[in-house]
Amino acid sequence: MFWTGGVLGVEAPAAEIAASVRSLGVSCGQIGVHAPDLGDATVDAWRSALDENGITVESAFPGFTGESYASIPNCAATVGYVPPATRDEREQRSYAVSDFARKLGIGGLATHIGCVSEDRADPEYIAIRDLVRRVCDHCAGNDQTFALETGQESATALKEFIADVDRPNLGVNFDPANMILYGSGEPIEALETVKDHVISVHCKDGTRPEVKGEWGKETPLGAGDVGMERFVAKLKSIGYRGSLTIEREIVGDQQRADIMEAIALLNRLRAQ
Ligand code: MG
Repeated sequence: MFWTGGVLGVEAPAAEIAASVRSLGVSCGQIGVHAPDLGDATVDAWRSALDENGITVESAFPGFTGESYASIPNCAATVGYVPPATRDEREQRSYAVSDFARKLGIGGLATHIGCVSEDRADPEYIAIRDLVRRVCDHCAGNDQTFALETGQESATALKEFIADVDRPNLGVNFDPANMILYGSGEPIEALETVKDHVISVHCKDGTRPEVKGEWGKETPLGAGDVGMERFVAKLKSIGYRGSLTIEREIVGDQQRADIMEAIALLNRLRAQ
């Protein structure tokens, strides 16, 4: 997982970011789109950078200005389509990122939509459901899927929401660590619940919160509570054939070292 603004906030031009991804020995990934300007020059820079480094991008994640993951209450108040004050601009931004991704031949959009009410009669639930329908339809026009990042709700609530939105190109970007970090369920059970909807996955790990309602702690892959061996085995058993996208949300040399170890771990588990 890498970002247009750099690798997790480390500013760099497209060519440098793509070369850095390639130097890890991987040939595919997901791109987070933070660059405010998605005009022709940005498209051209990314097209050349991805082509020259032989990187295929599975999906694009719109990054929204003003989101904060500093705590669970902050997350509920600022992330995704839920905050009413930024809802319209983020909907428009999603369309812009979908269009940008299409120009790069990327077949999917994915994002955290935020902490959606679990009351299906709540007007806020209905507003988000209708917005997600519009985003799905825009993506369909660009021959793209739209994937909801997991973690902020139970798998059962997510499955119900997908059924309510009722769009064939809607699915899940399954992040097992988020289930643990947010305290929203046991990831392998959750994967069973949403197995028919998985479009893509994040390989990320973490430990459970010590106090209910607080964050757990993200860890290097294999060092947390997910159980990577069980996770990869479960992906095989549900017939998942997509990429294993590593997400390591720290910066600097340690991020690179942890990603290298994660690649080695996933290659071992994949071969089992
Ligand atoms: Mg994730």
